[in-house]
Amino acid sequence: MALIDDVRGRRVWDSRGRPTVEVGVRVGAAVGRAIAPAGASRGSGERCDRRDGGSAQRGFDVRGAVAAVNDEIAPALIGRSLDGGGRVQAELDALLVALDGTPDRSRLGGNALVATSMALAWAGAAAQDLPLWAALDRLAVRVPLPEIQIIGGGAHAEGALDLQDLMVVCPGATSFAEALDWTAEVYLAAGDLVRRRGRAVGVADEGGWWPTFATNTEAIATLAEAIERAGFRAGEQVAISLDVAASELWRDGRYHLTLEDRALDTDGMTGLVLGWLRDFPVVMVEDPLHEADVAGTAAFTAAAPPGVLVVADDLAVTNDERVRTLAAVGAANALLVKPNQAGTLTEALAARRAAAAAGWRSIVSARSGESEDVTICHLAVGWGADMLKVGSITRGERTAKWNEMLRIEEAIGSAARFVGAAPFAPD
Ligand code: PGA
Ligand code: ZN
Repeated sequence: MALIDDVRGRRVWDSRGRPTVEVGVRVGAAVGRAIAPAGASRGSGERCDRRDGGSAQRGFDVRGAVAAVNDEIAPALIGRSLDGGGRVQAELDALLVALDGTPDRSRLGGNALVATSMALAWAGAAAQDLPLWAALDRLAVRVPLPEIQIIGGGAHAEGALDLQDLMVVCPGATSFAEALDWTAEVYLAAGDLVRRRGRAVGVADEGGWWPTFATNTEAIATLAEAIERAGFRAGEQVAISLDVAASELWRDGRYHLTLEDRALDTDGMTGLVLGWLRDFPVVMVEDPLHEADVAGTAAFTAAAPPGVLVVADDLAVTNDERVRTLAAVGAANALLVKPNQAGTLTEALAARRAAAAAGWRSIVSARSGESEDVTICHLAVGWGADMLKVGSITRGERTAKWNEMLRIEEAIGSAARFVGAAPFAPD
């Protein structure tokens, strides 16, 4: 019997220099450990992190959430069995949700709960001497395509660009490792272009270049040029993915493009983004309209060229009910899966399953505030996701994930099924 001997909450640090919650779960000699990530451009339907408020650490401290793990969550879990894989994970996650008792997890803290849920999964895997991806309630084992940020903007770069993420995917690559090789070439080529034009400010929260541009369109054009200069066929070998994160731009009934000093209505915004799909090698676009505009997103999805992925992040907040509602009206065709939006692994898996049932693609994603935690890599593989989105190819909290994926791809060996171009092929 794998009985939980100890559960411990600990205050550690994230990539923005803010405190976050780590949870360790011990089962005999086996230990599972996980760290809660934190978003900056958050959907309003997400679970809430518990932060202490006040002046210390600008209100972002998590002493209350850590105490909740040690004082309430630990006594509820210690002595329980971890035998039984996904079923037991579901039972323990339900116990955590009931213990919190609030719909948004504000009492014990979404950060306390997600770190506990992930640590339980790691402990269960360690007790069976399995890698986490192999111990999960699996859908299909696949090695995902990496979706990697080259240029950062929006809430991650003090609004330097209105677009939040300019990323690349490599549908032409034949392995995860090759996709990283190609992306690194593009990252360096984009850095050369940005510096040569005197526009580099630094790097944004997820490690992508933080340049100044006159327009958002110019930023996309620069990325397209970087792909070509790195020696790749843009749109075929290496293609662009945009996260508009449009909720961040939506105010008083209009989309405010601060960089361009103009505001657009829904038709104007839809036309602008569809224009980018037409004029540049863009194959994915996330949250093109604000999170409450289901009808607008449905119209956008219908108007997007075949094979283009319209990704729901703030729009779906990793919620299975929400995915079913959106899918019923054709709003989006791919789900961003962020465990801390959902609350627990079981709830994130339910959203992933709802996406699969709707015929949507899925992308397991990190947050802008991250750590060395690599749980999402294992979720992407064990849950058969199409892609893994982690930010740029630089900075330790990002490379921790890419490097873990390289290890997983190597460990699976010739049986590794790399997703490649499959997500962009019509069904
Ligand atoms: P966040 O942004 O982690 O800051 O919320 C990431 C995203 O919008 O995809
Ligand atoms: Zn997003």
